[in-house]
Amino acid sequence: MSYVDEVLERVVKENPYEPEFHQAVKEVLDSLRPVVEKNEEQFRRDALLERLVNPERQIKFRVPWIDDNGQVQINTGYRVQFNSAIGPYKGGLRLHPSVNLSIIKFLGFEQIFKNSLTGLPIGGGKGGSDFDPKGKSDREIMKFCQSFMTELSKYIGADTDVPAGDIGTGAREIGYMYGQYKRIRGLFEGVLTGKGLSYGGSLVRTEATGYGLLYITDEMLKSNGHSLEGKTVAVSGAGNVAIYAIEKAGQLGAKVVTCSDSNGWVYDPDGIDVAVLKEIKEVKRHRLTEYKAYRPNSEYHEGKGVWTVKCDVALPCATQNELNLEDAKNLVANGTIAVAEGANMPTTPEAVDYLQRNGVLFLPGKAANAGGVATSALEMSQNSERLHWSFERMDSTLKSLMVDLFHNLEAAAKKYGVDGNYVAGANIAGFEKVVDAMNAQGIV
Ligand code: NDP
Repeated sequence: MSYVDEVLERVVKENPYEPEFHQAVKEVLDSLRPVVEKNEEQFRRDALLERLVNPERQIKFRVPWIDDNGQVQINTGYRVQFNSAIGPYKGGLRLHPSVNLSIIKFLGFEQIFKNSLTGLPIGGGKGGSDFDPKGKSDREIMKFCQSFMTELSKYIGADTDVPAGDIGTGAREIGYMYGQYKRIRGLFEGVLTGKGLSYGGSLVRTEATGYGLLYITDEMLKSNGHSLEGKTVAVSGAGNVAIYAIEKAGQLGAKVVTCSDSNGWVYDPDGIDVAVLKEIKEVKRHRLTEYKAYRPNSEYHEGKGVWTVKCDVALPCATQNELNLEDAKNLVANGTIAVAEGANMPTTPEAVDYLQRNGVLFLPGKAANAGGVATSALEMSQNSERLHWSFERMDSTLKSLMVDLFHNLEAAAKKYGVDGNYVAGANIAGFEKVVDAMNAQGIV
């Protein structure tokens, strides 16, 4: 049995009931086969892959808080510190009822390669809780965040582990968590990213993942003889990533005709109005059902359906496994030329395979959505030097990072004979740097 297959078998056996984690490890290790085969003897002796798939540390804790009715509520908190070979652990905090150890481990594992791909000195980690912020009052959100941080603060720090936002953790939650960290540790330091501008946050962090997604998608299209100009785009999600992806797509001359949330989706043939979307989602924190009231020409549908719409480019920006084989077949039948993942692992493995076999350009999340974490690393730099960079400087740095990232993964795919396979290219490019650092640091 090959070394990769042995490790995959061990991962499933030693981490039962963690299907998302298995899926992420399989996807990465499968595409690393050409590199592993070249170095099999050394990797096997050093148990390199076993060390890579075992987090350096995983923390699980109780989060008690009191709701507005005086009822004590209990949630579970997680922080998985996966790999610190190239820098302090870095990765977001997800607050969603679906959160469990498997989800956090899949995200943390992916984060290792994504962070490495940015070219910046950040290791991989992820955390969160099964707390559902939906329908909670501001006071309840604050109480949860304070309780969560009371425990988490023991394990993080500006030079050890720097969490950020993710699903359910936006500017409000980061603010409450930062306040509690400062109170407990007495340190005003860059321990979280995604902070407000008045207390150490960075310009462009809010926009970064969505903007970065469009910069790299445009670069991929250009490298293949197309561009975003004049293209019709389907986006799923209506959160942070989706909103700024839609905004930047418009600025680059494309028309986005869809968005969605977990209840339903919107089709706007005239192009999604970003100002309306921001008003509904960022200001009022309401549901997409309201969109039609602002844009009578649009349609609202319950359930799932974004991928049935005819589009040139599809950008899944909601959550994991939201674009399956059937969706991929719809996209191919509708003539879609490119899919780039704004969310983490939104495309199922069967769908990725189908898209690639049918000649659709496919850019995986660890490359396509790396703009968020790259900008977070730049927020860390600004906090360390206690300076604040301009919007223009941040935006142009983000753009050049994304363009470089694309060419690095394109070159890595070429180097190992899998030209045009950007999944393999991203994994290989991210892996090579981490392995180099792990080898240099000995068996730790
Ligand atoms: P938000 O919470 O701001 O938005 C998430 C969006 O996806 C919402 O519209 C939400 O709808 C929808 N959604 C969430 N879960 C589901 C589900 N199970 N089924 C259908 N729709 C769902 O999160 P972000 O925009 O920050 O993150 C989106 C994705 O991008 C995630 O995969 C995240 O890990 C990834 N990502 C985010 C980065 C960032 O900087 N924010 C960086 C890199 C990756 P509803 O409101 O109804 O829940």
